[in-house]
Amino acid sequence: MSPALIPYGRQTIEDDDIAAVAEALRADFLTTGPRVEAFEAAFAQTVGARHAVACANGTAALHLAMLALDVQPGEVCIAPSITFLATANCARFVGAEVVFADVDPLTGLMTPDTLAEALERAAGRRVRAVLPVHLRGDVAELPALAALAERAGAVLVEDAPHALGSTMRFGETSAVVGDGRWGAMATFSFHPVKTIATGEGGMVTTNDPRLAERLRTFRTHGMVRPAGGEPWWYEMPEVGFNYRLPDILCALGLSQLAKLPRFAARRRALADRYLRRLAPLAPVVVPASRPAWSDPVLHLMTVLIDFEAAGRSRRQVVEALAARGVGSQVHYIPVHRQPYYRARYGELSLPGVEAWYARCLSLPLFPGLADADVDRVVDALAEAVG
Ligand SMILES: *Cc1c(COP(=O)(O)O)cnc(C)c1O
Repeated sequence: MSPALIPYGRQTIEDDDIAAVAEALRADFLTTGPRVEAFEAAFAQTVGARHAVACANGTAALHLAMLALDVQPGEVCIAPSITFLATANCARFVGAEVVFADVDPLTGLMTPDTLAEALERAAGRRVRAVLPVHLRGDVAELPALAALAERAGAVLVEDAPHALGSTMRFGETSAVVGDGRWGAMATFSFHPVKTIATGEGGMVTTNDPRLAERLRTFRTHGMVRPAGGEPWWYEMPEVGFNYRLPDILCALGLSQLAKLPRFAARRRALADRYLRRLAPLAPVVVPASRPAWSDPVLHLMTVLIDFEAAGRSRRQVVEALAARGVGSQVHYIPVHRQPYYRARYGELSLPGVEAWYARCLSLPLFPGLADADVDRVVDALAEAVG
């Protein structure tokens, strides 16, 4: 790896972020202190949700959501196969089974049609949760997905780590990802490549006070303190975990969250530049499609490449980009193809997933990227695809 390699994503940490962490380190509470609630309150306000519950990472956020819903062994959760492992794995954490949904081959998103088809495959079993992923930052068709989920007796849990700051418009109705207009809960991650970074970190948002309470309880071992109990008294009616996010990281999260408008604007400007610069590479290279209702803060700049027309394999393109100092990544290897899921559920035919996976490649996108870097990436890509 050459030192000049532009990664596909990276954090933007500035001096005031470092100062905020240093201040937290000098404070009384390194964990379970006031910065946790402050970060949660600021996050809830940012996305327009009533409650936000901070936790250890985005995977823990998904696990907590399953626990809060009381998903039981043998019940079904539906997740798209084009996502990070954790979207599906959270169902397995609670013993539930995963039914993998197909995706639109041009957006990579679960659609009402692919959800309806997955629900058919789940027929006869109890479907508890539908987990749309706002892949790359573009928003899934939430009103239609929510209506289908409701008809099946399931709730929508949005896996939203890619979509902090993304908004949508359906007819006269505007909404922000995570505001809970259509989903019971939305989960976020603050992994360094995500829109804001705390190293490891996650959040669940909800408008339901009962779910918020359960998320908090499962975050801390399942412990509750009944009103009127002795000062030391706690009880554990259900078993939980230690999924807390320490004050040190909440301090960083607070500092980062204040920069979201600037980070989002920069991501939007870079995405616009990519779209302009990539246009001449069509039809061999086309950006992933943007649904009409979606106004994304893109997490990933994913392009779809016709490798056959280019006469090069994806491996050759990835290596040619790397040789010119450009990092890239595949989002994602279909989860249903993982050995664990293949052994459990056998082979599945998901044509949209296969079409997306055959062509997708994500190019560098993060706020610290310069305009000239975008030009360099597109030039390298143009050369790599011939
Ligand atoms: C990053 C990510 C996760 C997991 O988040 P972690 O904080 O890494 O545990 C889950 N789902 C999606 C779609 C993600 O991008």
